[in-house]
Amino acid sequence: MSSLTEKNRRVLVVDDEVDVLEFLRIFLESLGWEVTTVDTTEQAFLELDSRSYFLVLTDIAMPDMDGYEFINKIKDKNYGCQIALMTGFGYNPKHTLVKIYKTIRYPCLFKPFNRAKVIEAVQNAFNVYNKEDRASQDTNEG
Ligand SMILES: [Mg+2]
Repeated sequence: MSSLTEKNRRVLVVDDEVDVLEFLRIFLESLGWEVTTVDTTEQAFLELDSRSYFLVLTDIAMPDMDGYEFINKIKDKNYGCQIALMTGFGYNPKHTLVKIYKTIRYPCLFKPFNRAKVIEAVQNAFNVYNKEDRASQDTNEG
């Protein structure tokens, strides 16, 4: 049980809508995840620079930075976190989401949220994060 509690269970939620942040914080905490919420990409980078998160769950329409640019910056900085997206928009071929899908494939949650999909996306990210972590440890030990 102790090894389970030592795992990184931190989720960083990034959205400019306070209601969304509040809903996800309460919902994800009720499932046992440790949640930090921020409403700007600037704050998001401050958080990512200060501690490790297994998942960044981010809105792709932020006033201070385009979602595509934000996600690429997270990737460039090699934080090692998983990324999942959120959007309040439906399908639109000119939308940022399509641009993101063409280059990098991340799970996307559509607002209003389907709770089962939120649970699944976070759990999958946790599983992948820990699988990659274990794989790199195995390599180091060998
Ligand atoms: Mg937004």
